[in-house]
Amino acid sequence: MKKIDSFRDKGLRAKMVDRLIDRDIRDVRVLDAMKKVPRHFFLDSAFIEFAYKDNAFPIGCDQTISNPYTVAFQSELLSPKEGDKVLEIGTGSGYQAAILSKIGCRVYSIERHKDLYLTAKKNLLNLNLNVKLFYGDGYLGIPDHSPFDKIIVTAGTPKVPDQLKKQLIIGGILVIPVGIDTQNMMVILKTGLNDYELISEYKNFKFVPFLRKKQ
Ligand code: SAH
Repeated sequence: MKKIDSFRDKGLRAKMVDRLIDRDIRDVRVLDAMKKVPRHFFLDSAFIEFAYKDNAFPIGCDQTISNPYTVAFQSELLSPKEGDKVLEIGTGSGYQAAILSKIGCRVYSIERHKDLYLTAKKNLLNLNLNVKLFYGDGYLGIPDHSPFDKIIVTAGTPKVPDQLKKQLIIGGILVIPVGIDTQNMMVILKTGLNDYELISEYKNFKFVPFLRKKQ
């Protein structure tokens, strides 16, 4: 069934973006992309009605689409620019990838659940967004396509995987939620071939776990 982006959807989305601004999101590229991308296209039909509430929602396979604030916050930390080559770990619904793609980033995204990978592919094609999707274990990054300007992880990991840091360019940044029950959002800058600097850290996020291996 063809999905429709109605005036009502657009209105609800503009309000969602106003709430993001009220809550301190400032990056105009991020705000503009979030105003344009129909979040309701990425949700199961049972939740479409709630697409513009500030909540995470189930997307199948026991996973969730992150709440809009978390997507905005992580995107802002990445300071995405047109042409940036970005790797996302944890495609899920494809929504975060869509936001980065709308900004003009060249997005590579990997997901370990086959069903989610397939649905995300459909969701992104539906919007004519050219995101390169991969099915597999993102713990290892995507070495064949590295290096990346930026890497974003959308699942909580107890430890920062070395392979991900290695796949950054020097000057590149990694945004990653680190922790077991709750996570701290870390922004790590690669300053030399084997040198990294934690440039900022924000407490108290709640992500689904970053797991190893495929299903
Ligand atoms: N960015 C997503 C949010 C998805 S939740 C969105 O916008 O909808 C996190 C996702 O990470 C889940 O889909 C989960 O299956 C995936 N994931 C967890 N561990 C992974 C791994 N090792 N490799 C790839 N994907 C992983």
